[in-house]
Amino acid sequence: MDYIEFLGTGGTRTPSQGTTCLRVSEHCVIDAGNLINTFGDDVFTVEHIFLTHSHLDHIIDIPFLADLFVTQKSISLKIYGLSATLDDLRQFIFNHRVWPNFEEINLIGHSDKTIELIPLELEIPYTVDDIVLTPFKTNHTEGSCGYIIEKEGSAILFTSDTYRCERIWELLDERPNIHTLITELSFPSAFDKLAFDSKHLTPALLADELKKCKRNDFTLYVMHLKVLFIKTVIEEINALQLLRNGGKILIDGDRIEF
Ligand SMILES: [Zn+2]
Ligand SMILES: [Zn+2]
Repeated sequence: MDYIEFLGTGGTRTPSQGTTCLRVSEHCVIDAGNLINTFGDDVFTVEHIFLTHSHLDHIIDIPFLADLFVTQKSISLKIYGLSATLDDLRQFIFNHRVWPNFEEINLIGHSDKTIELIPLELEIPYTVDDIVLTPFKTNHTEGSCGYIIEKEGSAILFTSDTYRCERIWELLDERPNIHTLITELSFPSAFDKLAFDSKHLTPALLADELKKCKRNDFTLYVMHLKVLFIKTVIEEINALQLLRNGGKILIDGDRIEF
């Protein structure tokens, strides 16, 4: 694949929109907010899920995927994330209460377990298929991270959910091969207290954050808008001219070339 495909872009789940889910290569996705409905019968091609954090809108299809895999696959579904995120999955999802502990349950007829949880280290590159993913710390939950997604030297920076975060702007300045920034934008600017409390961005906060970056040559896309406030947020995005160099508000099904 020479592109990233956005399978879910919403900050809210609606009948016409999924939550965060990006297909970055043939077998690899970032976050699992909308796998089942978008992959359909091809869902068994998913082998690697890199998580940005453990909030429900980013993990919601993992339990259902494990449920499908247990009788159909011969190799484990590999789920990657910072250790705090993986601990959340163990403690709150795969705990034999909310869902079976598929980390301990074998694939039927095979020696591999149904899921394998693999801890990531920050700023270390991981190669899957023909892409390289490098996690960096974001300001959202204890286990939250974004990813630099690289293919043949061409790089896209995906923040996923975050509040103000210095590292994003440092990375853009350090790595001129990053040609695209995809960030979240959840609430209207008037909700700055809620944005702080829930660790999300508003158009005014993003405009202020952008002042930290020396570069202005990258394309800026936004996603994760909360559907109740979408009209106000779009007006503010336009008034502040946030979408530089051909960027847009991403919708499900959009693609970005490497
Ligand atoms: Zn979140
Ligand atoms: Zn989210």
